[in-house]
Amino acid sequence: MNILVINCGSSSLKYQLIDSVSENVLAKGICERIGSGGACITHAPAGGEKKKTELPMPDHHAAVAAVIERLTDKEVGVIRSLKEIAAVGHRLVHGGEKFASAVLIDEEVIAAIEEVSDLAPLHNPANLIGVRACRALMPEVPMVGVFDTAFHQTMPRKAYLYGIPLEYYRDYRIRRYGFHGTSHDYVSRRAAELLGKKREELRIIVCHLGNGASVSAVDHGRSVDTSMGLTPLEGLMMGTRSGDLDPAIITFLMDKLNGSAEEVLSILNKKSGVLGLSGGVSNDFRDLTAAAENGNEDAETALEAYALRVGKYIGAYAAEMGGADAIVFTAGVGENDGPMRARISEYTKFLGTSVDPERNRTRGEEVILSAPEDAVATMVVPTNEELAIARQTLAIVQAGDEKKS
Ligand code: AMP
Repeated sequence: MNILVINCGSSSLKYQLIDSVSENVLAKGICERIGSGGACITHAPAGGEKKKTELPMPDHHAAVAAVIERLTDKEVGVIRSLKEIAAVGHRLVHGGEKFASAVLIDEEVIAAIEEVSDLAPLHNPANLIGVRACRALMPEVPMVGVFDTAFHQTMPRKAYLYGIPLEYYRDYRIRRYGFHGTSHDYVSRRAAELLGKKREELRIIVCHLGNGASVSAVDHGRSVDTSMGLTPLEGLMMGTRSGDLDPAIITFLMDKLNGSAEEVLSILNKKSGVLGLSGGVSNDFRDLTAAAENGNEDAETALEAYALRVGKYIGAYAAEMGGADAIVFTAGVGENDGPMRARISEYTKFLGTSVDPERNRTRGEEVILSAPEDAVATMVVPTNEELAIARQTLAIVQAGDEKKS
């Protein structure tokens, strides 16, 4: 059985075709600049050559058609027809409070996702365009939605409510939702496996440190807190996002810059984080590390401030769970940046952690960095959101088949 995983943005569409038995990626690619000049598709069959082709793609319909055409192509394709796709799994950003797990998509589900679109105005409508295009072109294939927010729906009220008048939660559903849920779920599950324990026995702190970054507290298998909030702007300092700040800074800056709320939010989303704090050096940790090594003090401060934020969240989540059994690093920075892991681990020593410098050189691989006798394990588990989506999609489709039979 093959599962097609789709991650659709407003002008791009990423895809992976995954064999659900071997869990191998059969092909993957990306359509970019959909709806504008210079649109192109990059397609990479497993074991074959990656090829980028310019192709007019006026809309997502055309992009999905191009993906199907590539997947079934005689030369670069990996399947003969759409019949070899058992289901499509869609990455959906915001499920609000309606979706605590993956779901088979029908008209009712689409309407429910539309209803919460005001919570993710940039993402949900774009995700739905992808869903609609796939349904139109593959009407026989079941579509499953896997939400970034779903895993965090287990958070208790005390963790997801903000300290603002309760009516804003009641009337507008303003609360912490959290994101990267598919990753936090996958990584915490895998970490438990690597430790030879059940996730239900452990208190795990997952640090998903990519360009967007969030920390979660996974207490006996359930997310009980996470650093992103109503939107992905809250929490850690990120590549270009500010993360936590005094909300009064927004009106203060509007006043100083004579700008609108949108302009200030754009600064907080796109020009802040380590990019902004380093004085514009970069949002990429490789560039920042190189600059810091060459004596750039602002780059060094940005790296120090980043590590401090992560350390603070780990400490907070250990307090929330009454301790921790494992701290897990994942995503671009977490998987590859040993020096950053070492900086962060300086703040977790009080919990009884250690990091082996030799093993900490590892990049992009599963590794336990701590000593077996440490009270808290420190480890790296590369995330694989596409595989997690494929697994959840398969489970939904199989559960549906069982019901029918
Ligand atoms: P992600 O959003 O998970 O794809 O992570 C992307 C980020 O990971 C990039 O912006 C880099 O800052 C970081 N990254 C990727 N590779 C490395 C590396 N080898 N060393 C340090 N940081 C890296």
